[in-house]
This record gives sequence, structure tokens and C-alpha cells, in this order.
Amino acid sequence: FFFFFFFFFVNAYRKLAKEYHPDKNPNAGDKFKEISFAYEVLSNPEKRELYDRYGEQGLREGSSGSGGMDDIFSHIFGGGLFSFMGSQSRSRNGRRRGEDMMHPLKVSLEDLYNGKTTKLQLSKNVLCSSCNGQGGKSGAVQKCSACRGRGVRIMIRQLAPGMVQQMQSVCSDCNGEGEVINEKDRCKKCEGKKVIKEVKILEVHVDKGMKHGQRITFTGEADQAPGVEPGDIVLLLQEKENEVFQRDGNDLHMTHKIGLVEALCGFQFTFKHLDGRQIMVKYPPGKVIEPGCIRVVRGEGMPQYRNPFEKGDLYIKFDVQFPENNWISPEKLSELEDLLPARPEVPSVIGDTEEVDLQEFDTTRGSGGGQRREAYNDSSDEESTHHGPGVQCAHQ
Ligand SMILES: [Zn+2]
Ligand SMILES: [Zn+2]
Repeated sequence: FFFFFFFFFVNAYRKLAKEYHPDKNPNAGDKFKEISFAYEVLSNPEKRELYDRYGEQGLREGSSGSGGMDDIFSHIFGGGLFSFMGSQSRSRNGRRRGEDMMHPLKVSLEDLYNGKTTKLQLSKNVLCSSCNGQGGKSGAVQKCSACRGRGVRIMIRQLAPGMVQQMQSVCSDCNGEGEVINEKDRCKKCEGKKVIKEVKILEVHVDKGMKHGQRITFTGEADQAPGVEPGDIVLLLQEKENEVFQRDGNDLHMTHKIGLVEALCGFQFTFKHLDGRQIMVKYPPGKVIEPGCIRVVRGEGMPQYRNPFEKGDLYIKFDVQFPENNWISPEKLSELEDLLPARPEVPSVIGDTEEVDLQEFDTTRGSGGGQRREAYNDSSDEESTHHGPGVQCAHQ
């Protein structure tokens, strides 16, 4: 079941009505009547409903009948309207085109780095070989009366004055086939359905450097149906998250933890790349890594799609692990201080100062938001007991 919308603006009618007005164009009297009639149908909900059900005849005579909307409108507009509307579902050679089938395909970053061939099994409709997609003996097939063999019914709804929504839905009597087959004449193999389910195996080539959201198309491999050019099977790549690497285009990003000694005195470490290679990263003594800084390894990113020998870069962000509190004795600490770069000189202070207490806090709890308070409350104001419960809680 599928439908689509289109909008039609009253201006088009006005233009046509002007063009074919009997004053201007005395020979186009009938055309003008038709245009006026079409406009009337579209702007009147009751008439529209009548038209939906019984077609043009139903409207004109108020009697029952059947028909599709395109009788009158395609006639007036030379089919232009409907060819526009149907452009999605018609192929180049004018045959109706089936819907594309979209499947997500999950792939790991390793697969996208190395490329991969995988087999995908799917079940699809193919034309019944026993009846050649006829559904029965030749001559057994009859036109559906509900939709006059069109397979679709059209409904029109006014969204706003002058703006009309047209909905086309598959005929429920014939399931959009436009025809029905007598039970006794039906093909035994497909039970008159003209198609049978078949398991199909597709070989999918995931090329090096393909990206999340990229499509792999198998032209004409979607469901077959009589008189319909099959649509495509489209696989939509879904890149799975990787524990080590994050991808950004052709670049890769990773985070590496190092200790303070490595940050100051150089280091080396190894990691396993997406193709299984062990990569050793060396950073010589004398070069310093600041916490949170990023260094780059050129050419160790993702391969470029269709040019896999060209690769992006690998960015490594360093998370520097500092030692714990009191990790060293005070004596050793002063020794260490002698080795480290000298402290900045503290400018001498004139006048009174207030000393405040610098405390640890849990960053996962946030800064306390509205419970902000002066830092000296804690240490200096013993008698001040007006902390709210939230405040107490915030620095435990
Ligand atoms: Zn059959
Ligand atoms: Zn029908």
C-alpha cells in the first residue's frame, strides 16, 4: 500500500480559465466548462467525495458508477499533471516502476577499513514461472470493476483554500492489480498471485573507505510484479561504534592514557590498528605532552573510498594521569621541586588578606547551581549554622 501527495494551486485554474474563457476564445467553450467543473469539484468537499466514490459520471448525474480522477483532469491538462505526479513511480521507458527496497546493513569500522564481501539472504517476490506472471490461463483475467482496472483509487482533500491534497491509494478489491481472476482458473503454483516468494542471496561488496549512510544499490533486484519494472534493493550502511577509534570523514580519533612521567619524560606505546597491524607510537624524552593535547600520526586514518592507498590521519588525544594525593614524602617532594621548573614569583601583598580553603568536589554532581555560597563560610564561621541541607550535602 502506498500513496503520495501533490499540491495544486488555484492559480493554475485561474490561468487556464482565463485562457479558455469564451470571451477570449469562442471555440473553447467546452474546455472552459471542463475547467470550471474541475475547479468546482476540487473546491467543494461534498462533490469531491462523490467524485472519489463514483467518478465523473457520478458527479454529473448523481448516480453510481465508477471511475478514476484522472479521467477529467488528465483530459483537461493534457496529462501534464499526472505525469508529474507519477514521475516517482514511472521508469524511463514508461513502465510502472516498483518500489525500492531499503535495508540497513551494519558494518564494523574494521570492515570499512579493510573492505569486505558479505552475503545477504533475502526473500523477494518473483514472477511465477508456471503462469508467466499471468495468475492463470490466458483469458481468465478480468478487469477489476472497483477501480476500472487502474489498480488505484484517488481521493482529494482540500488543505486550504486553493490548495488541494491528492491521495492515491491502492485499490483494495484487486490489491492494485487492476484485474481479478476466477477461482477455478487460477494458477495452482502461485494461487493467482502471479508472483511467488523466492530466497535470493546477494553478494555485497563493502569497499574500503565507505562511509556511514552510504548506499549500495542492486538495480532491479527488488520485488517483481507483472507489468512493473522492479525497483532497486538499496543497502544503507550503518557504521557500528568502535571501542578504540572514532571516525571523522577519513580521519580517525583515539584517546590514550599516559602517566605524568611519560608526559614529561617521553614514552612509547603500541596499539592494534583496524587491519590488525601493531602500531608503535614513540615520543622522545625531552618532548612534553600537556594534559588533553592532541598529536597526529599522518596517513594512519581511514583509506579513501575508491582511492584506498590514500589515507586520512590519526589523531591521538592524551589523557595525562596525575599521581594520587600524598604519593611521595615531603622530603622527596622538595627534591622533586628542585628538579621541576621554578615557581613563579609571588607578588608581595599589601593590606589585609582573607585566606580561603580550596576543596575537592565531585564534578559529576555539577557546581551546585543555585546553592552558590562564599568559600569562607566553611572554615571561618563556626557559629554560622544557617547552611541549608543542600549545602551540607554538596561538600561531603
Ligand atoms: Zn502462477
Ligand atoms: Zn481494483
